[in-house]
Amino acid sequence: MRNKELISKMTLEEKASLMSGKDFWQSMDIPKHGIPSIFLADGPHGIRKQAAAADHLGLNASIPATCFPTSATMANSWNPELGEKMGQALGEEAVAQKVNVLLGPGTNIKRSPLCGRNFEYFSEDPYAAGKMAAAYIRGIQSNGISACVKHYAANNQEERRMVIDTIVDERTLREIYLMPFELAVKEGKARTIMSAYNMLNGEFANENKHLLQEVLRDDWGFDGVVVTDWGGNNDRVKALVVGNELEMPSPGGETNQEIVDAIKKGEIPESALDECVDRLLNLVFDTEKVYQGERKKFDVNKHHELAKKAAEEAIVLLRNQNNVLPIAEKTKVAIVGDFARVPRYQGAGSSVVNPTKLDKTLDCIKEYGFDYKGFEPGFKRYGGKSGGLVNKARKLAASADVVLLYMGLDEVTEAEGLDRSNMKIPQNQINLLTELKKTGKKVVVVLSCGSAVEMGWADQADAVIHAYLSGQAGARAVLNVISGKVNPSGKLAESYPVKYEDNSSATNFPGKEVSVEYREGLFVGYRYYDTAGVAVKYPFGYGLSYTSFEYSDIEVTEKDVSFTIKNTGKFAGAEVAQVYVGAKGSKLFRPKKELKGYKKIFLKAGESQKVTVAFDELTFRYFNIKTNKWEVETCEYEIMIGASSADIRLSGTVNITGTDAEIPYNAKTLPTYYSGKTANVSPEEFEKLLGRKPPNPKFEFYKKNRMVIGYNTTVAQLKYAKGWTGRLFAGGIRFAVGLLRAFGNRTMANTLIMGVMHQPMRGLSRMTGGAISWGQLNGMITMFNGKFFKGLGMFLKAGKAKKKAAKAKKKAELAEKQAKK
Ligand code: BGC
Repeated sequence: MRNKELISKMTLEEKASLMSGKDFWQSMDIPKHGIPSIFLADGPHGIRKQAAAADHLGLNASIPATCFPTSATMANSWNPELGEKMGQALGEEAVAQKVNVLLGPGTNIKRSPLCGRNFEYFSEDPYAAGKMAAAYIRGIQSNGISACVKHYAANNQEERRMVIDTIVDERTLREIYLMPFELAVKEGKARTIMSAYNMLNGEFANENKHLLQEVLRDDWGFDGVVVTDWGGNNDRVKALVVGNELEMPSPGGETNQEIVDAIKKGEIPESALDECVDRLLNLVFDTEKVYQGERKKFDVNKHHELAKKAAEEAIVLLRNQNNVLPIAEKTKVAIVGDFARVPRYQGAGSSVVNPTKLDKTLDCIKEYGFDYKGFEPGFKRYGGKSGGLVNKARKLAASADVVLLYMGLDEVTEAEGLDRSNMKIPQNQINLLTELKKTGKKVVVVLSCGSAVEMGWADQADAVIHAYLSGQAGARAVLNVISGKVNPSGKLAESYPVKYEDNSSATNFPGKEVSVEYREGLFVGYRYYDTAGVAVKYPFGYGLSYTSFEYSDIEVTEKDVSFTIKNTGKFAGAEVAQVYVGAKGSKLFRPKKELKGYKKIFLKAGESQKVTVAFDELTFRYFNIKTNKWEVETCEYEIMIGASSADIRLSGTVNITGTDAEIPYNAKTLPTYYSGKTANVSPEEFEKLLGRKPPNPKFEFYKKNRMVIGYNTTVAQLKYAKGWTGRLFAGGIRFAVGLLRAFGNRTMANTLIMGVMHQPMRGLSRMTGGAISWGQLNGMITMFNGKFFKGLGMFLKAGKAKKKAAKAKKKAELAEKQAKK
């Protein structure tokens, strides 16, 4: 223990007081022991430091900061060095704002295209996600502060995110859902990790011994701090014992007392608290060092330029018929689409950044030397018939040679706290595209959204540029690609299925009641489409360039693979060469191919380069559930070099002598997994894979439509309460959501869903900073369970006790102050 001496001087109460927040964003300080508070702030693509009113929903304004492209966008750059640079810049801005812990990156796997937070995550592939997460972390932490990788783990839906129980088998957990975190910890050396809201296999992530102790600390050697997601603490003592150092935000001191009581009763050893205090103090003292000198500033313009460079490398060219792009100067260009006027450049929720400046297409277009004919919005941003707007857009199109059509998802559809209900782009935008095509003019679509959408309509366009959510400098980055100043080099870090139903999790997403079963197992994203032979619209790893690349001369050894790439076109450009590995004749079930390496290579026209990608401990491993460790199967492995997961240009084989552990599966009992076609796994076969019976996924009712209300019942579920007070509460919130929607305030409706509807009862106390005490909450729950007068009595009594305790505290503080004088 580094802080043994200091800890030995602290009282039990003082130590426990450090284990939860001082307020919404800061940890507790103890000035008499020289322990300062540290500041934690969102978020993954820019700093959201709230100067005044605090919330975790992205409601109140924050200090201006550079809004970089979101993680979903950056993943398409396939350039971890650039990710690291961005991380450095994020860290610099955090330091300028006196932030100790930057709450990002988020590196959950995109299991379903509909997860509401996909825009904040990197990829469906754990290797791609983990490498980029590690790069961000290295960059952020190079400033002396801490990154905080989140949300650990298996937090892949927003529906009921604070209570849903994710049921997943151990091999899938390790190989898919934990691996990005493994790389974040081992390669990125993250100092802080945020436990997820959800449960994992029956236990809350924040008190899950397997996750927090056995995997994180014992296997990966993590010696940093685990912080809860905001309001994600369930049982404080249980969480402390498995190594959760910091509960956020402040629950008003009640849970600290729980820790004190548990130690006094001998339920847990004091040493468990001491260890947590020690690790937290390491974080506090280490990340405070940077603030000992002069306060640093950051260069707003330089960071804006970096945000632009990042967006340029991340933009994906999906279609370019007859090389309509790039567009030459003097071309008659019309701009259509509301997203050109009001850019969609980031997501909604806790990651919202207040940008230092914001480039807008209509302001920048004049810089490009086109014969610019004007702008028309063309459609209603939030859907609905747009006839008049379409006519005006058609008229404008008639005056141009090329129409740049800015389409996208609106900011309310893609938001933290709720999943999308479908994968579609509003029909009014697609109708507009059809109408514009009828004018005979060339139509170039610029798409802005943070997650995969169905894109059957794309074939109507001459070209499609996917900008994702490209940050505050995205508008210019897009125009640089359109004009050819920049040759696009981004590739998709997620698959685009033809339709939503093609996704392997579609039959089990989202979990709507108690649990969500990951029945598709390992076959997530391209691992499924590719193995099961399901055609996709755009495969994982796909993206076009203005030039062409030729791959040749593959050579595979036991240590690495090398090959040559030549730029055979007329433009300088970059290619992302991807290394996939597949085991031939494996006795396990496995995806046909898995990403195990990649390189982004910049080449001038005509230039060629030999590329070598080394194999490492990740290349051939699989997780064996019997030996409970990573093993290597003795096998012939196919090494495939692809321009995408579906476009394999070269391949070779290598024989690898493995660890020869016993194969833990019986192919006969897991036929669907051995076929890879796991979109419809039966409950029986899933149970075999899991090795136990999964919990009943349905709510338990003691009679029709009535359930017992407990600490983890959500506000939405109160509609099943016995007591009218509960039903009234739930009904009131439902009514408010309906009303807000009816009046067109979908943002506020979403906030209510995210912040209140999905909030478990315990949150009513824990998230109100002590305004509702635990005793008062017990009274409320008793009322909700139908014992109105008893509950009311408890509520009032607890209210009095709270007042009395507050008075006593004040008195004691005053006495202490006077004693000091
Ligand atoms: C989000 C976290 C975020 C935290 C603080 C939570 O609702 O899940 O990602 O860091 O709020 O804003």
